[in-house]
Amino acid sequence: MGFSVLALERGPLSREKPCAGGIQAVEVEEYRVPRELAERVIGAAHIEGWGHSVDIKVRKPGYTVVRGRYDSWLASKAAEAGAEVREHHRVVDIKRLEPMHYRVKAKHKGSLGS
Ligand SMILES: Cc1cc2nc3c(=O)[nH]c(=O)nc-3n(C[C@H](O)[C@H](O)[C@H](O)COP(=O)(O)OP(=O)(O)OC[C@H]3O[C@@H](n4cnc5c(N)ncnc54)[C@H](O)[C@@H]3O)c2cc1C
Repeated sequence: MGFSVLALERGPLSREKPCAGGIQAVEVEEYRVPRELAERVIGAAHIEGWGHSVDIKVRKPGYTVVRGRYDSWLASKAAEAGAEVREHHRVVDIKRLEPMHYRVKAKHKGSLGS
């Protein structure tokens, strides 16, 4: 028996965010990420900040994704697997009724629902 899953996002699912979008090859293989989403192959990274830098070489090349597109695709896979996915719903309250049973209150464009 599976769980009833509700995924709420306060903004649009295709939103952008400050993220380099680096994902591992194992993630691409396991989730069967479409080739057009895993855009670039990366074999090394150079990270810099606050006067420090670090070079990372990976044994197996990874990929980069555009988070807005990748996150939307992940949400569509969750929906395909039976989750209810809603965008523009901001969670304002969560109450635990039983160990794996929650009541969620969310706000959608000015209205309150649960
Ligand atoms: C500069 C930078 C570069 C990075 N590069 C990489 C990288 O290359 N590879 C990597 O793996 N990670 C990277 N990260 C880290 C990565 O972005 C985060 O670890 C990852 O996005 C966290 O995922 P999450 O789902 O927990 O949170 P998020 O991706 O932030 O998702 C949380 C979501 O919840 C929504 N939300 C918040 N509050 C509510 C609410 N009350 N109701 C409804 N929705 C709500 C937000 O709008 C948001 O969309 C980077 C991060 C930064 C800052």
